[in-house]
Amino acid sequence: MEKLVSLAKRRGFVFQSSEIYGGLGSVWDYGPLGVELKKNIKERWWRSMVHEREDIEGLDAAILMHPKVWEASGHVAGFTDPLVDCKHCKNRFRADDPKIKGTPGQPDGQCPACGTKGTLTAPRQFNLMFKTFMGPVEEDAAVIFMRPETAQGIYVNYLNVLQSSRQKVPFGIAQIGKAFRNEITPGNFIFRTREFEQMEMQYFVKPGSDGEWFEFWRAERMKWIEALGIRKEKLRWHQHGKTELAHYAKDAYDIEYEFPFGWNEFEGIHNRGDFDLSRHQEYSGKKLDYLDTTTNTRFVPNVVETSAGADRTTLVVLCDAYREEAVKNEDGADKEELRVVLKLKPELAPIKAAVFPLVNKDGMPDVGRRVYDDLRKRFNVFYDDGGSIGRRYRRQDEAGTPFGITIDGQTSQDQTVTVRDRDTLKQVRVGSGALVDYLKDHLAG
Ligand code: ATP
Repeated sequence: MEKLVSLAKRRGFVFQSSEIYGGLGSVWDYGPLGVELKKNIKERWWRSMVHEREDIEGLDAAILMHPKVWEASGHVAGFTDPLVDCKHCKNRFRADDPKIKGTPGQPDGQCPACGTKGTLTAPRQFNLMFKTFMGPVEEDAAVIFMRPETAQGIYVNYLNVLQSSRQKVPFGIAQIGKAFRNEITPGNFIFRTREFEQMEMQYFVKPGSDGEWFEFWRAERMKWIEALGIRKEKLRWHQHGKTELAHYAKDAYDIEYEFPFGWNEFEGIHNRGDFDLSRHQEYSGKKLDYLDTTTNTRFVPNVVETSAGADRTTLVVLCDAYREEAVKNEDGADKEELRVVLKLKPELAPIKAAVFPLVNKDGMPDVGRRVYDDLRKRFNVFYDDGGSIGRRYRRQDEAGTPFGITIDGQTSQDQTVTVRDRDTLKQVRVGSGALVDYLKDHLAG
């Protein structure tokens, strides 16, 4: 994992937030390559969920919502972790932290940070929602929360979307947006952070058909993830047992990935029954039932949810693409060397191709610039004329760039360039005028 974190910083994927001030705990910033990678993942999700489906509409709800939303959703009462404080060193831990010896609140309870015995408090419930104040007065009546999930913005807009889009049940609403959780044991890079992005879709169905739709969406989501190029053997399902199920859930499965730190969830598919709309109906006093005009019956729709983290999915994609390989030296020396390469699916790669003049003379930089200017109208491409060609290839390997285009001595004779494949290292000659089509063909999928 340290290797990936250091590559992410070196190449400009992910930086620690406010790093020059020592960083802010479990908050991360996406650099020039990271923002492209995450955007490509989100766009792919949006395309498959919203554009390719006539039964799903998109939404972008605000982060700040009416405080009653979080009472109705159960977050005010139930979105908590049991925590203990050390009265001596003031550190705070989850009560189930395996590093705690003895029983918190008892004389034998030992602080894992300072080692003092008997200074840990008994567990207390700690709400994970970030609080802030709305308006000029910092008083209890002005408290609002930073949303801990995007789903509630969808439920409270269910009627608006239904009426304006003229959809009929079954139909879905999809949204990508930021969420905030004051996690107590965050960590593992961008796996668990305090500010993160979710890609959530809530599918509203007739009661009784929820089981079938649940299975449908389970299969769809796994297909989507596999199509990101993730190795199948690194993916598995985990069904929530009775004690794990969230307060709203009838049934729930996580899709887990084998991260360098073990198997962990990065997407959940949940059968939420009619909990959400019923609760918002009760708390808002507004009718949220649905009139089925074919049978002339009314019902509160059930919800099947697919809930993915954009950051965790980005981490899955990065972990899965990271390889270290022994390859032949590409500057012509007769030796092998170790390279780090991100074998990203070309469609997800931040940079699609890099353009290199072999040497900075004989007109090669001019041709290189022309090729670069031509390509960047269509693709995110990069121009690099610094260092040996082998070094330039290695830098792009670490960025996951699928193609390296080199202008060499032959280019001025027959207007062809070499195109090097990141994974096979094979080079083919392509007419410089045919590069746009070549890239279009080889980047799709
Ligand atoms: P966990 O148990 O790992 O905290 P969760 O079960 O609370 O996750 P959900 O509430 O189901 O997660 O959220 C759906 C998805 O949102 C998760 O699968 C994950 O990808 C993402 N997510 C949740 N919390 C975080 C976080 N703190 N940092 C990054 N992503 C998160």
